[in-house]
Amino acid sequence: MKIICVGRNYADHIAELKNETPTDPVLFLKPDSALILKQHPFVIPEFSSEIHYEIELVVKINKVGKYIEPQFASKYYNEITVGIDFTARDLQQKLKDKGLPWEKAKAFDGSALVGNFLPVSDFDSLENLNFELRKNNQSVQVGNSALMLTKIDDLIAYISTFFTLKIGDLIFTGTPAGVGKVEENDVLEGYLENQKLFRLQIK
Ligand code: ZN
Repeated sequence: MKIICVGRNYADHIAELKNETPTDPVLFLKPDSALILKQHPFVIPEFSSEIHYEIELVVKINKVGKYIEPQFASKYYNEITVGIDFTARDLQQKLKDKGLPWEKAKAFDGSALVGNFLPVSDFDSLENLNFELRKNNQSVQVGNSALMLTKIDDLIAYISTFFTLKIGDLIFTGTPAGVGKVEENDVLEGYLENQKLFRLQIK
């Protein structure tokens, strides 16, 4: 199983990090060892003093595919949730400054959380989904899939031109504005259309 993440997919988040708007989707991968096991906390790693949360819509692949055409992409996943792409922002900035790959800042152990999955069929459309991250009971990020620069089906088509998608692969589809730092004892809760799909303790 692999995790494929999309960077810079919401204009408001691109602006807050002062990044350039990409002409093609920005992709990076996390290994399966990045996943936080159910009921486990997120433990702040010793190599960073600036761990950021990024809430994202996540879809789970249920069929093997390569060179998937956008109009058939929806046949390759049937579950969706919200998750967190944890990022060591201080380390990522150093790597970006040197033009180096981001893996150490993005793909470390515990850097990926996924909530409980819901069937895609629960929703009329995936192009108008509201999602939210609350930190210590305060809303810190709100997003809507309508604001994605590249929509889910187009992402799947694009991703599958580089990486064969396999059953169980997870696609993190990018974060909206409002990313910020976590501290010990914070509690993060993720919502999709007002359903709470995860609760995570920071240690
Ligand atoms: Zn992200």
